[in-house]
Amino acid sequence: MNRAVIVICDSLRADLITEADAPFLSELARRSARFANHTSVFPSTTRTSAASIATGCLPARHGLLGNTMALDEGDGLVCLSVGKPDFRDRLHRATGRTLHRPTLAERVRRAGETAIAISNVSPGAAYFLDPDGFGWVYNPAGSFGPGRRPLPAEEGLAIAKGAAGDDVATDRFCEEMLGRRAPAVATLWLSEPDYTGHHTPLGSPAHRQAIAGADSNARRVAETVRALDPAGERILFIVGSDHGMETVGETIDLDELLIAAGLKRGPGSSDVVVAPNGSAALLYFADPAGGLVAEVARFLETQDWVGRMFVGPDLEAAGLPTGAAMQIALTLKADARPNPHGVPGHSHIVRDSLEPKDCTGFGIHGGFGRNEQRPFLLVSGGGFAPGTHHGRSSLIDIAPTALRHLDLPATGMDGQALPRYPARAA
Ligand SMILES: [Zn+2]
Repeated sequence: MNRAVIVICDSLRADLITEADAPFLSELARRSARFANHTSVFPSTTRTSAASIATGCLPARHGLLGNTMALDEGDGLVCLSVGKPDFRDRLHRATGRTLHRPTLAERVRRAGETAIAISNVSPGAAYFLDPDGFGWVYNPAGSFGPGRRPLPAEEGLAIAKGAAGDDVATDRFCEEMLGRRAPAVATLWLSEPDYTGHHTPLGSPAHRQAIAGADSNARRVAETVRALDPAGERILFIVGSDHGMETVGETIDLDELLIAAGLKRGPGSSDVVVAPNGSAALLYFADPAGGLVAEVARFLETQDWVGRMFVGPDLEAAGLPTGAAMQIALTLKADARPNPHGVPGHSHIVRDSLEPKDCTGFGIHGGFGRNEQRPFLLVSGGGFAPGTHHGRSSLIDIAPTALRHLDLPATGMDGQALPRYPARAA
């Protein structure tokens, strides 16, 4: 049976993969199919990305719209963190479903096969790889087997975010998941360099060390894959990231601005609810067809910190649903200025009252900025020839690529299986 092994180094920007900091990924890039024009989805947040990698669909179709989302649980719209361990259940209770499209885990389960994911990022990002429990998902906040059966603590994943936890997760992934259990789809989601990138300047010694840690864990998985499949035929090996990062410029308190402009009744009101997503924000309306949508849009057009804005039917162009409570999505202005460590790219962010910390000068993502939309993707084994692909690829292409390798249908996905050979130069 063919197998697919997927490793995600959270937040690792393609241009920060250097010989000095990521010697293994630099070398792997030379002997893999390297997708040089690879992009994230919008919002470029980890939880949205996880759902898009799992379903092969854009947020418009899988329905998970950010790291935060507004839900009406009976008392009007309230912004919630998707990352919390209970968000999956609250979403299911409020809307009757989780993701709107089947995941890789569900598709391989229907074929009698298994998917296992180990994720050292937020519980929300982990659980939305397989929210309905078709396979196994391991996360420090709680691990689940098929049917969402909670696993006993001794079978769980008692680690912390950061390099040390990622090392333990990688050990277990290589020995237990790849070596002994051998599922059709195995996913390892590392917390670095995202975790350090959110707490230190990009390109600082600590951030570069976090990149080196992720590089060394990717190497260990690659060595395990090579030992299991020396010819590189049965195992499709996919290594990438979910998005990149920009450096935080100013923090905008959008709630406060809307209240001051007379467009929102007060803090916590549900007439218009801001769901902050780093360098992006999604605005939900109690009356999505009401006049407030256009009033808020006109106000935002006057704000010099706004980058791009999508309103109503225009949301489709951003890969977001139209006709839902969420009626306005915006990115904050990004620019190419380098930070003190020479890493280019800044963006303003929207203040997140659920996590109100000052992260000026640290890494962030969520929008359409050039660097946050610059994840990397390397594919080897399974018939992929080494070489650089310059055509556009996206996170949504990973699931159909894995399914093709497994000889399973990838019907109803937005993404497409990636080409195994680079286009011949003209
Ligand atoms: Zn991420």
